[in-house]
Amino acid sequence: MKIIGKGSKSFSILHNKCPRCSKGDFFYSHPYHLKYFGKKHYNCSNCDLKFEREPGFFFGSMFVSYALSVALFVAWWIAKSVLFPQMPAGEMVLVMIVLQVGFAPLNLYLAKITWLNLFVKFDEDFTK
Ligand SMILES: [Zn+2]
Repeated sequence: MKIIGKGSKSFSILHNKCPRCSKGDFFYSHPYHLKYFGKKHYNCSNCDLKFEREPGFFFGSMFVSYALSVALFVAWWIAKSVLFPQMPAGEMVLVMIVLQVGFAPLNLYLAKITWLNLFVKFDEDFTK
């Protein structure tokens, strides 16, 4: 299994590509383009993979979203402890809320495409 480059899970997740062929787009645009916020393609434009494998398939992505939120919290906690050890708790919570809201669109995008990548393998036959 490849770790980086076309055909890897990381490539699919970071480049918004179909996990089966690494060519077709998953979302219409980047996470902060409000006109297409959260809008994903129904099928892959290259290999015709149906992204929503069953009704409610992407509800499971909230587990990934939760993990990403916890990771952001831990990263902020470590950064705060190193850079601002005297910061009051109220300010720390306020910054955490701003970070979570600011990263919410990116979190949603990463959670959904990561969830899909857990269930779909790369297949070289579909790369043509
Ligand atoms: Zn595809």
